[in-house]
Amino acid sequence: MARKSIRFLRGKCEDGIIRLYIERGSPLYKNLLDELHFRIYRKKEDDFQQGNDYYEYFDALDYKDAKLIYDGSLQKQDSYCFVYTDSDVKPLDIYAYWVAYKDDIVPSGPVGVSVRHPDVWWTFQRINDVMERLYTAYQGPKSLSSYGYSTRKKKLKGLVLGNPDRCIGLIGAVHAGESGPELFLSAAETIIRNYPDLLKKTGLAILPSVNADCREDMATGTPQYIRCNPNGVDLNRNFDAGWDTVDLTYGLNTSIHGSITYRGPFPQSEDETNTVINFIDKVRPAVIFNGHCLSSICGDCFLTPRNSQSDEEYKNRCIELITPYSQGFRDVDKEGLSFHYGTTAGSVPAYVYKKYGIPAFDMEYRTVKDEKRERDCVIGRTTPELLQEYIGYHTKGIINLMKYMAGNEGDIT
Ligand SMILES: [Zn+2]
Repeated sequence: MARKSIRFLRGKCEDGIIRLYIERGSPLYKNLLDELHFRIYRKKEDDFQQGNDYYEYFDALDYKDAKLIYDGSLQKQDSYCFVYTDSDVKPLDIYAYWVAYKDDIVPSGPVGVSVRHPDVWWTFQRINDVMERLYTAYQGPKSLSSYGYSTRKKKLKGLVLGNPDRCIGLIGAVHAGESGPELFLSAAETIIRNYPDLLKKTGLAILPSVNADCREDMATGTPQYIRCNPNGVDLNRNFDAGWDTVDLTYGLNTSIHGSITYRGPFPQSEDETNTVINFIDKVRPAVIFNGHCLSSICGDCFLTPRNSQSDEEYKNRCIELITPYSQGFRDVDKEGLSFHYGTTAGSVPAYVYKKYGIPAFDMEYRTVKDEKRERDCVIGRTTPELLQEYIGYHTKGIINLMKYMAGNEGDIT
């Protein structure tokens, strides 16, 4: 088969616009003109479902079913790279693109790109900007510090506001395609503005986006759900808490590299894992909530370590703390709590339980109104309106918990 003229065809969505980065490959090495003629084909993929479909979905597509959307010249951006900008897209759209150099019969591709709403999927830059803004806005004890690095060496910052001796720990996006920064930082913003007195007796310690590299990949257009870090490690299996135990949850094997629940080559092998450990060690929260579920929202379904089942005292403390949080979502007397022994070996809650014995939870899927638009978060279709509703539930829940902790100072250690 002939070599193709294009290598490294990549697609990225930034600020609601898709850009294709087209690099000339070896057949074009000698053709260093500033302008080359390309054909661009595009096909809208309404059937793609994040969480159910992965990259092989795109492998099966044929450019002959796509529309030719551009047939003309593009200017080079640097020696090898040409950029095509597609503004005719809207949030929640998913596209497959193919690109051909003018003499190519068969185009390169496809590359899949998802248009993620910038308000639902905050970029790393925006997360840091919001943290800076909150840090500046709050006039009380506070810190904004780096606790470590991501695999690609992003500085992972955490924000601590209020009473540092009685903090609620909020850890987000341990799994890239799940929840954290949008919920927790938005809640903190409301609390700073409307409930500053609560921060005198209690505090918030937020590490909003642990798996920052792969969350950025999703925010900028990778269509499929990503769980692991760039090394292919599930960070919520990498902690030194029963790490040796092979787990088969979801029918996936934690000891196999390539499985999306891979625990890593050894305990705490990953930079992000060590960042979380450092954060918890320095901040010492009284309780920790981790944002999971999918596509920037999670519900009041609280999972705590499976191996804590025989610890009655721990269970009572867990129930005591999740009850006010859950009341932000619903009438708990009527609908009940969702509390389960669900987190596995190597998870953040398992590590926190083992090392500090404090309540720690993964927050998972639980709808409030049981409407389709809520259930659709599992296929990546969270809208800005739905996110706002969930920010409201979490904000109320965290305020309830802060009030509870503020009023029961002697009870919580
Ligand atoms: Zn998760």
